[in-house]
Amino acid sequence: MPSIKQSGSLSSLADRQDVSLSSLTSYARKLDTVAGQANRRVDNKHVEFTESDRPKSASSPKKKRKKKNPIIVNLSGTRYEVIRQMAEKLGFTPSKDDDPNGYLIWNDSFVSAERINELKPFQRINHFPGMGEITRKDCLARNMLKVSKEFPEEYSFMPKSWILPSDYSQLVNYSKDLKSKKKSKTFIIKPSNGAQGHGIQLFKNAEKIPATEHFIVQEYIEKPFLLDGYKFDLRIYVLITSCDPLRVFLFNDGLVRMSTEKYQNPAESNINHMYMHLTNYSVNKHNEYYEKGETVDSGSKRSIAFLNEYLRNKDRDVALMWRNISDMIVKTLLVSMPHLLHAYRMCRPCAPSGSDSVCFEVLGFDVLLDRNLKPWLLEINRSPSFGTDEKIDWDIKSALIENTIKLLNIKVSDKRRNINAQKQEAQKRLYRTGKRPDAPDVSEYEKRRIHFEKRKEELKELLARIKKQSLREDYDNRNMGKFRRIFPTEDKARQEKYVRLMSSIFNIFMSGRAPAMQKEIQRIYKNPLREEDVLDMLHECEEFEKDGKYAGGGKGAARGPKPLQSMPVCQPSPIDDSEEEDDEMTEGSPMSTPMTRRRSAKSRPGSMVREQSEWSEGASSTYNSRPNSGVRSRPPSNMSMSNQSNQRSRSLSRMVTSGKYTSLQRSTKRG
Ligand code: ADP
Repeated sequence: MPSIKQSGSLSSLADRQDVSLSSLTSYARKLDTVAGQANRRVDNKHVEFTESDRPKSASSPKKKRKKKNPIIVNLSGTRYEVIRQMAEKLGFTPSKDDDPNGYLIWNDSFVSAERINELKPFQRINHFPGMGEITRKDCLARNMLKVSKEFPEEYSFMPKSWILPSDYSQLVNYSKDLKSKKKSKTFIIKPSNGAQGHGIQLFKNAEKIPATEHFIVQEYIEKPFLLDGYKFDLRIYVLITSCDPLRVFLFNDGLVRMSTEKYQNPAESNINHMYMHLTNYSVNKHNEYYEKGETVDSGSKRSIAFLNEYLRNKDRDVALMWRNISDMIVKTLLVSMPHLLHAYRMCRPCAPSGSDSVCFEVLGFDVLLDRNLKPWLLEINRSPSFGTDEKIDWDIKSALIENTIKLLNIKVSDKRRNINAQKQEAQKRLYRTGKRPDAPDVSEYEKRRIHFEKRKEELKELLARIKKQSLREDYDNRNMGKFRRIFPTEDKARQEKYVRLMSSIFNIFMSGRAPAMQKEIQRIYKNPLREEDVLDMLHECEEFEKDGKYAGGGKGAARGPKPLQSMPVCQPSPIDDSEEEDDEMTEGSPMSTPMTRRRSAKSRPGSMVREQSEWSEGASSTYNSRPNSGVRSRPPSNMSMSNQSNQRSRSLSRMVTSGKYTSLQRSTKRG
C-alpha cells in the first residue's frame, strides 16, 4: 500500500516562510510573557492556555474561602484543564479523587451502562449510553444507510459509504459501473474505529482497496470550499441535555481546521499528500508550515466566527449554510434516537420521561463544506478534544464548557430535593399498601373512589412535571449563552417534519413494531399537554368528586372525567408493595445495552412493573416502554460490559430479527 508522505512545493514554502517566521517570533514573545505563570502547562511542545493566561483573571487573585455546602464535581476522569477551570469559575469544587457522589462527573472516555445506572437523580455525567451508534464510523455509516434508503432526499449529507469487508463486492461493482460510464471518482478509506487521521488513505481506483480490512470507504468530496487555497473542515459543538425528551443545542462558534498544503484535485501524483487532503490538527501540526494563529484571520486553526465573516464578505448566504448545518445535525441525532432512548431507559428504569436527565453530552461534529457550501457530515466525536494548545482553543472551548455547565443548572439543593422526593415516594408506597380496587371485599363505590383518587394524584404529578418543564425552558432561555436550541425548534414546520422523521426512524429500527412509540413521539414533541389542559382535567375530577357522581352508578359514574387521549391510565400491574484529538478518544465498542439484565429483572420474583402514569405526560394505556424493573438492577457482576457489547447486536432492528425484543419493542407489540 502506498504510504502517505509529507509534502510542500517550493513556492508555497517561500510564500509561507515570512508568515511562519513572524508568527513564530511573536509567539516566542508571548511564551516569554507567560513563562512564569503557574498555570501554564507544557504538553507535547504545546503551551496549554489556561484561564490565568487571560489578563483579567491573572491580575485578580482572590482569597479562597471554604464553602459551607460545596458542590463537588468529579473531574478525575478528564485531563482537560479548561473543564476544571470553568467548573471552579462557576463555583464548583473539584473532588480530590474519583468521588462517585459528585454532582457533575466528567469523563474523557465513554462510561459504562452500570455507572449510569448507579447514578443518583441529582448527578450529571457527560456521556449517554448508546451514543456509539453514531460516533463509531461503521455504526454511523450503517445507520445512516438504513435511513437514507427511505429518505434519500433528507439524508443526502453523508458521502456515499461502504463498510468493509462486508460491502466489498458492492464497492467493486460501483467502481466498475463508474468505469463503464467513463467516470472517475476518488475514494477515502478510514479504519472503522479510527481517529486523528490514523490509517487514512486515498485511492483513485476502488479495486485496489484491500478487501479484508475493517474499513469505511467513502466517496471523496473532491471539490471542497477553500480558504486561501487550503482545504478545511469545521469542528462544530453540539450539546444534548436530554434524550427523553430530546433537547439539542448548537454552539455558535467552533474551529475551522485548515490543511497545510495548498489543495489540488486528487490525482495519482498527490493522493499521498496528507497535508493537502486531511484537515486534522493532529496530522497537520507535524507539518513545518503549520501556523499558530496570532490574529483571528491567520493561522491553521481559525474560528467559525471568522469563517462566517469571511463568507459574508464574499456575499455568501451564511444564514442558509447554518440552517443546513443545523438541519443536518438534528437529522443525524434523530437517527440516534431509537438507540439512545432505548439505552437510556435501560440504564434509568425509574426515571419518568421528562425528569432531569442524568446524562448530557458535548459532541464534536466534523463537517466539510463543498464549493457550494453544502455541508457534508464526516464524523461525530463523542470525546472531542478540549485541549487548549492555542489561544483560539481556549477562547472557544472555555466558553463552550462554561455555557454547557451553566445549562445543566446544577444546584446544591438538588441533592436535598432528591432525598425528599425519595421520602415522598416511600410514603406513597406505604399508602398504596392500603386497599386495592381489585380486592374482593371492595364495594363498587369504593372502587370508583380509589380510581378517582388515583387519577387525581396522577394529574397532580403531571401538572408538577409540566410546571417543571416550563421552568426549565425559562432557565435555558436565560442561560444559553452562545448556544441556541435546535431541537425542539421554534420553527413549527420544521418541528413537524422532524417529528414525522423521528416517527419513521423508530419504525425503521424497530421493524414496523413502533406504533406505541410513535404515539408517544407525537404527544411529546407535537402536541405536548399544556398546564391549562391538565388543570381542566383536574377540575373535572374535582367536580365529579364534589357531585359524588361516582357514588351514583349512573351513566357517567363509571367513567369519571373524560379519559382524554393523553390521560395516563394505570394498568393493573403486579406491583410488589414491599417492593480521545488528537487527543480525541478512539471510540471503543459502542455502549452496550444490558439486555440480559433487563430480562433477569423481569423474571425476578417481586420485580415491579412501572405504572403507566409515571412515565410521561400523555402516556397511553399501551405505553410501557421501560424495563419492567422498579428496583435498580445491576447487571450480573460476572458479566463485563464488553461481554454485553458482544452480546448486543449493533442495531435495534437486528435485535428484533433475532427475537430479542427490547422493552420498547415489547411495548409496541402490544400497541
Ligand atoms: P478521523 O477520525 O481519523 O479524523 P475523519 O473522518 O474525520 O477521520 O477524516 C479525517 C480527515 O479526512 C477529515 O478531517 C477530512 O479532512 C478528510 N476527509 C474524511 N472524509 C472525507 C471525504 N469523504 N471527503 C473529503 N475529505 C474527507
